[in-house]
Amino acid sequence: MKKFSLLALFLSLILFLAACGGGEESSGGGSEDGGEAAEGGLIGVAMPTKSSQRWVDDGNNMVEQLEALGYETDLQYAEDDVDKQIEQIENMIVKGAKALVIASIDGTALTNVLEKANEQGIEVVSYDRLIMESEHVSYYATFDNFQVGVLQASYIEEALDLPNAEGPFNIELFGGSPDDNNAYFFWDGAMSVLQPYIDEGKLVVQSGQTDFEQAATMRWDGNTAKSRMENILSSSYSGGETVDAVLSPYDGISRGIIQALTGVGYGSDDLPLPVITGQDAELASIKSIIAGEQTQTVFKDTRDLAAVAVNMTESILKGEEAEVNDTETYDNGVKVVPTYLVEPVSVDINNYQEVVIDSGYYSEDELQ
Ligand code: BGC
Repeated sequence: MKKFSLLALFLSLILFLAACGGGEESSGGGSEDGGEAAEGGLIGVAMPTKSSQRWVDDGNNMVEQLEALGYETDLQYAEDDVDKQIEQIENMIVKGAKALVIASIDGTALTNVLEKANEQGIEVVSYDRLIMESEHVSYYATFDNFQVGVLQASYIEEALDLPNAEGPFNIELFGGSPDDNNAYFFWDGAMSVLQPYIDEGKLVVQSGQTDFEQAATMRWDGNTAKSRMENILSSSYSGGETVDAVLSPYDGISRGIIQALTGVGYGSDDLPLPVITGQDAELASIKSIIAGEQTQTVFKDTRDLAAVAVNMTESILKGEEAEVNDTETYDNGVKVVPTYLVEPVSVDINNYQEVVIDSGYYSEDELQ
């Protein structure tokens, strides 16, 4: 008995030291010194930022699923600092990663570091965001990004009953980060629905800012969006016009927009908040939807995306072909990257319970 507890203590100590001694967030089966490395080897997982909850979920899901298969993981977040992400990827290469899964910050900034990975025979899975300008991207795991925009815009279309209503309605448009290829897909998907209504005058963009370049939000920053909305409100809505809808591509941006709107009195009986879309079903935005502020979001089940990326990684390491369902859409400037698209789901007050609670993505408690 005594022998057993001493052994247990010794083992816990080893595990503790291994946990302390590894990379910042390295984990998995086995310590770097002494213990056996996990059978599958080390997989580097580079994520953009912890400031948005979805990426935290993505990272955790990747680690959980890779470790369940016996891989070691090195999960790193770069806090939206492009150079930091490049440095983290370089470190993963030095540490002997067998494969890299990367959600880029600036999709065009990784050409050189992927060259280095390739020299070491390390293959890369582009995670959620397409890595541009590199031939060394084996697969792309993502959601149907065009469809995300379609879901957001169709929600506005239905909420304002655009096919039947006379209008005109005022809408303002927000785009995502111009260094993220996804932002263009979201925008194009949304405009495929909205543009005809803008052209016929049923939707009016009072600010006149109808180009992606004018609407883009660098690094998806909520404060940048808040300032832009404040400027639009003071320059284009000071004569009694009201905003009826806002196309927002991401929950963090939506919440910034809501702050700008409530700051000038929206959210009261006399001046209700406009229809406001979003993306990612972040906890804060689900709460906002329940509170009657944000109207819609798009749920992207990061558990499913991680499963796709893990499957691609495994296939690469086994020298097999991974399952893909799109071999045409995602051209990164050098090649069309074989892609697996997961379906996004539109969420509002009517189905959040079923989609994000009943599916086990969030617990009831987290919503309190
Ligand atoms: C992702 C979105 C996310 C956005 C901001 C995009 O690349 O596809 O899900 O809302 O980045 O983080």
